[in-house]
Formats: sequence, C-alpha cells, structure tokens
Amino acid sequence: MEQEKNYINGEWIAPQSNAYIDVENPVTQEMIAKIPKSDERDVDAAVASAYAAFPAWAATEPEKRLALLKEAIQWMMDRSDDMIRTLREELGAPQGFAKRVHVDGNLKEAMEQMELAGEIEYVREEDGYEVWMEPYGVVACLTPWNYPLGQITSKVIPALAMGNTVVLKPSSQTPLTAYWFAEALIAAGIPKGVFQMVCGSGSDVGDPLAGHEKVDMVTFTGSTKGGAEIARRASEGVKQILLELGGKSPALVLEGADLEIASKRVLDTIINNSGQSCSALTRMIAPKSMKEEVERALLDRLQTYKVGDPTQEEVDAGPVQSKKQYDKVKGFIEKGVKAGANLLTGEIPRGDAGYIIQPVIFTDVDNQMEIAQEEIFGPVLSVLYYEDEEEGVAIANDTKYGLASAVFGPEEKAKAAARKIRAGNATINDGKSPGNAPFGGYKHSGYGREGGKYGLLEFLQTKAIFRQE
Ligand code: NAP
Repeated sequence: MEQEKNYINGEWIAPQSNAYIDVENPVTQEMIAKIPKSDERDVDAAVASAYAAFPAWAATEPEKRLALLKEAIQWMMDRSDDMIRTLREELGAPQGFAKRVHVDGNLKEAMEQMELAGEIEYVREEDGYEVWMEPYGVVACLTPWNYPLGQITSKVIPALAMGNTVVLKPSSQTPLTAYWFAEALIAAGIPKGVFQMVCGSGSDVGDPLAGHEKVDMVTFTGSTKGGAEIARRASEGVKQILLELGGKSPALVLEGADLEIASKRVLDTIINNSGQSCSALTRMIAPKSMKEEVERALLDRLQTYKVGDPTQEEVDAGPVQSKKQYDKVKGFIEKGVKAGANLLTGEIPRGDAGYIIQPVIFTDVDNQMEIAQEEIFGPVLSVLYYEDEEEGVAIANDTKYGLASAVFGPEEKAKAAARKIRAGNATINDGKSPGNAPFGGYKHSGYGREGGKYGLLEFLQTKAIFRQE
C-alpha cells in the first residue's frame, strides 16, 4: 500500500513538502509507518481535481454511484482481517472490539445506508413547481482518530452517493485504516478526481481545506475546539458545515431502575475503545437514596471487564491511543482527586504499563468539578447524586455538551425524563440503536446528523424550479 503518498486525481503522489509524519503503535510504542506531511500545495491540487470531476459525477445515474460504492464496501468486507490488523496496530484496539464494532459494524451500517440511498427522491412535484435535491459540489471531510474507519465511512460514502466529490483528510494519529478505504474505492473503479485523500496535520491540511474557495461543504468530526475553528474558517467562505463534536453524556438513574442494566450500559461505554468514544456515558446521575446500591452494582460489573495488553485474548480494552491522550487522562484523574471527589476504584496511573489506564470511578462528584464538565476521553466515570428527579434532570442538562444520554427506570417515567434532556439521542434502559438512526449533537456537540437517511440528506441541497405553464 502507498502509505507515504496522497491520492489525488486518480494517482498516488508524494507530498510536495517531501516531509513525513511518523505513526506510532500505542501498544508497542514503535513507529510503524510514515504518512505524508502535506501542505497547502497538495490541498490545492486535490481540490482542483475534485472540482473538475464534480459535474460528471453529479450527472452519473444514482444507481451507478451506489453500485460502485457497494462494491467498495464489499471489497473492505472481504479484507476485514487485514483491516482489523491495521486498526489494532494504529489504535491499540483488541481483536474482538476491532472486529465487532470498528470493522464489521461500521461496514454493515455503510452497506445498509447505501440501500436507503436507493430510496432518495431527487425530484418531487409540488403545487405548481418542481423541487430538485442536488449535491453541494466539493466536500471536505475531516476525521478524528478514535474510530478510524467509521468516521470516514459515515462521511465519505454518503457524500459520494449523493453526487458530491470529496477530499478526505484523515487524522494523522490513526491514518492507516484510511489507506484501505482509498484502496477499496480504487478497486471498485472510482473515476479520476471523484475521491482524493490528503494526509497531514490539522493546521497544514485541515485548515487550508476548510477555507478553500472551491470547497462547498465541510464536514468535521472531532473536538469542540477544533470544530469551532473549522466552522469559523469555513463560514468566511459561506460553506455548508456539518459538525460532529465532543460530549459529556449523562446517564440518569431513576428510582426503581434495574441497576444491573444501568451499570452494564454505562461501564460498556467507559471501557470499550478505552473510553475514547464521543457518546460515552461519563456522568452517572443517581438518587442519593440509592448511593450504596449504585456503587455496589458498578463495582460488581466492573469486575467482568479486563483492561490490559490488547494482543491477549479476553482483553476488553487496551491502552489509550497516544502519550498525549495518556497525559490528558492522567491529568484529569489528578484533578478529580485534588477537587475532593471520592475515588471509589482505580488510581492515578503510574506509567508502568505503557499507555494502559485502569478504569477509574469517582463518586460524590460535584457537577461543577472539571471531571464532571470536561470531556476526558478515557476510562473515567463520574457519579453524581441528586435529591429529587427534577434536580437529576437539571444536572443532566448542566453541561455545554448535548451528544448522547441514557435514562434508566420505569419505562414511561424514563421516556418522560429522556424528552427533557437536551441531547441528540437518548437510550432508555436496555434500548438499542439500529445503527442507521440519526446521530449528532445539540449545543456544543455540533450540528447536522450522520447515519441512515438523515445522514444522506445532509449532502443534498434544495432547488425549486418554476416552469412556464
Ligand atoms: P481533533 O483534534 O479536533 O481533530 C479532528 C480532525 O481535525 C483531525 O483530522 C485533526 O487533524 C483535524 N483538526 C483539528 N483541529 C483542527 C484545526 N484547528 N484546523 C483544521 N483541522 C483540525 O479531534 P480528535 O482528538 O482527533 O478526536 C477526538 C474528538 O472527536 C473528541 O472530542 C470526540 O468527542 C470527538 N468525536 C466526535 C464524534 C461525533 O460523532 N460527535 C465522533 C468521534 C469523535 P490532526 O489531528 O491530524 O492534526
């Protein structure tokens, strides 16, 4: 694979700078690859190519576009073992989670989304006029490191399916899975210029891409800070913007909740992917009267997980992805202790196990503490207690974020509370998302939706045509 090159105008090309970025395996801490440290010149070439390819791709029959994209997804499914290996090497994910969620789960969702794409109505007769749904043009896709495949498939596949051309900038921390994605499109016969991939840092590549005059839409998944900067840059050029940002999601426990379900659902999100999930339920908010039961349920459930060397069987979660992430999570654990939160289990990591951090549960957390307000992005849970349900809902909403939420308790009461929480989704008890449900945030968690038909419609704009009668 051409890991030291960008894919521009149907060719693998070395970066103009001739400079490279090392990619680290977080388990062994060895450098395992180099990717281009591209700059504005590569961005210009990629955007020019996408711009030139747009009219023909937009005019291609939707069925042809979908057939090509389904073939690319199938190509990746056929190589899932290779992709899982790459993902494990760059992210440190254990085999089971890499297969079930990162590769099989994300590719299944992408395939299902392409089935839904076949149902899109591109033209509709209204009362005396026609409405046409049309692609934007050149779409810049900027993706984070925590789900290296899923964040790419949920942007690039629907953008292309709807007739846009794309320039992808994957995260420079986990860029290697993106090369499988590019190879899949190439193998399926993507026409020259329809898809480009430019690797490099956010400042060297992401920034000029978001501000480029020939880019029509910017879709960004990442931190709220990065998203706000991207949006500022893109809005100067009046571009369409979609932002999928950070979270600090509440899990509200009501009187009568099944604590086995609640502790499992919460801890799954804290442990899986080493807690590096935007929708992790990192604030558990429970009645003060249930304090003892809640803490016992959490400790019992926690014993069923194993965090350690992800190359070993039976391990549920490995290290966090980088030294930077390790230091950040460690810093928050120190802050929690200093602020006076009760360390129910876990400790300040000592660095004797690489980037592995054993799960930490803080209880008696005050919602104003940093550990309750900031996205930690590691295996750290804050438990907060409330006197009455109204206060519980108020604590759930007392955050700048609004990505995900969960409510545990008697079904009807839980549903009523879920409606009061200002977030893009709410899971009630053991509810499951069918994958192609809309996903996205309220407040500082962003705007726009990914997934299923909602995630397809984001890549279309609306034109009205008035005929002479
Ligand atoms: P990040 O630092 O904001 O980076 C995201 C992407 O944007 C990377 O490709 C990065 O490039 C680039 N970038 C960052 N700042 C930029 C800037 N100012 N200008 C141009 N490009 C910029 O986020 P991350 O650390 O990779 O990902 C973790 C964050 O993503 C968490 O906050 C998490 O909650 C969020 N997330 C949200 C969702 C969702 O659906 N809402 C899903 C997954 C993750 P480089 O890193 O290569 O320099």
